[in-house]
Amino acid sequence: MQSAATLLSDVFGFDTFRPGQEEIVEAVAQGRNVLAIMPTGGGKSLCFQLPALMREGVTVVISPLIALMRDQVRSLHEAGVEAGALTSGNTPEETDAVWEALEAGRLKLLYIAPERLAAGSALGMLRRIGVGLIAVDEAHCVSQWGHDFRPDYLRIGELRRALGVPLAAFTATADLETREEIVARLFDRQAPEVFLHGFDRPNIHLAFEAKNSPRKQILQFAAARKGQSGIVYCGTRAKTEGLAQALREDGHNACAYHGGMEADDRRQVEHRFNTEDGLIVVATVAFGMGVDKPDIRWVAHADLPKSIEAYYQEIGRAGRDGAPAETLTLFGSEDIRLRRSQIDEGLAPPERRVADHGRLNALLGLAEALACRRKGLLAYFGEELTQPCGNCDVCARPVESFDGTQPVRMALSAMLRTEEWFGSGHLIDILTGNVTDKVRERGHHSLPTFGVGKDYSRAEWQAIFRQMMGHDLCRPDPTRHGALKMTEAAHPILRGDASITLRKDSIKAAQRRPAVKA
Ligand code: ADP
Ligand code: ZN
Repeated sequence: MQSAATLLSDVFGFDTFRPGQEEIVEAVAQGRNVLAIMPTGGGKSLCFQLPALMREGVTVVISPLIALMRDQVRSLHEAGVEAGALTSGNTPEETDAVWEALEAGRLKLLYIAPERLAAGSALGMLRRIGVGLIAVDEAHCVSQWGHDFRPDYLRIGELRRALGVPLAAFTATADLETREEIVARLFDRQAPEVFLHGFDRPNIHLAFEAKNSPRKQILQFAAARKGQSGIVYCGTRAKTEGLAQALREDGHNACAYHGGMEADDRRQVEHRFNTEDGLIVVATVAFGMGVDKPDIRWVAHADLPKSIEAYYQEIGRAGRDGAPAETLTLFGSEDIRLRRSQIDEGLAPPERRVADHGRLNALLGLAEALACRRKGLLAYFGEELTQPCGNCDVCARPVESFDGTQPVRMALSAMLRTEEWFGSGHLIDILTGNVTDKVRERGHHSLPTFGVGKDYSRAEWQAIFRQMMGHDLCRPDPTRHGALKMTEAAHPILRGDASITLRKDSIKAAQRRPAVKA
């Protein structure tokens, strides 16, 4: 048998393995059960295609997308590997050719759509052809929580048991719940070897800024990068148009993109972006699937993404060519409120909502990070970075922090004394001793917390409330027009059993920054 390294260069034409590939190839080739988590574009297919050539028998590949299977079969043919697909997209001739190769014992890889597994004859057929390995692409499709759930994926576990062969599962979805569900459904209790690699994109600079005047912040960021291709992600369709207009007025080549546009117009923007240099697309998250441009130099978020996964995916569109790329994510209390209410008002089942709040919390933790952002980001995905990255805003300018326990307790107690009926604006009036009509009407000027927080300015209080929301100490209550309600996490601080460190407001840091050179 040829070695993995020889096959890599002779068949696939690559000189070296990508990070992580070699260990996975070795484990799969040796017939160990494997779950490999690699980001999109990380080179997953090689991790089952190469072992397929090293093992006896046919490797069955289960994949959810016919187009993807056909692409892979085509490139395997070009590399001289006997591979075939049985899908509903086949011509009769293609299907005949697959059967012929199978019967002659020549076929090394057989791609099948998960729907095939539902047919009663599938198992008998797979038994006959001598399967040596099952590879499952996009394994998160087995997760009922995921957005890509495919019921037929639930049959794969049965198939593995019936055939008694090793199974290798691949996915780019790294969160723990999905991972656990994959293990439970595909491998029963025999824990697979888990590989997680390649999530670091060291050429992408990471930065967050508290939102004060978002349009100005984005224009400033774009002005320092004139002529470069970039994407600005916005939370709403209306905002994309307005911001694109503002960028054009600032002399940029910019256009909007969102799901409400005609399909033709959207395709045209995608085409222009992929082919022109220096275009800025101001878009909702609908922009992404049709984007295939390796030299996107920057990605900015005018609004906070919905989760840490979404953030990772969206910034990950920058710098695919490996050259330096920059990102900036703006976030504020309004974003947190909006994202929370989207989760609470969504139709997802309660467990899913809890998980979604957790994913948002992870992103907020990253936004308020006190140490290297890349370390925090990779830690979320389960990858460890031993040194601070030197390529994020926190590494460049260490964060000033302070013991926020006392002001946070003041804020929580103001919340409690007003029975959690108010938002941060009114609570800040109480804390700073500002006698507004609302304060007088409710008699809040006679509360013991009235004016106790005079030492902090209004802007400082806003930052404190934002961070309290970021630490998930309080959440806007959807049944009370967004009044802030304490969470369990606040109790230890209120009781005096826990302390909390906060960032000195990055809003002021942003204002102090020297003007950018155009
Ligand atoms: P995904 O992980 O998204 O399934 P693919 O398997 O499609 O990624 O691989 C992404 C790209 O990387 C492909 O163009 C593939 O040819 C290329 N690639 C994979 N492994 C290597 C390698 N060792 N060296 C160079 N290019 C590679
Ligand atoms: Zn860093």
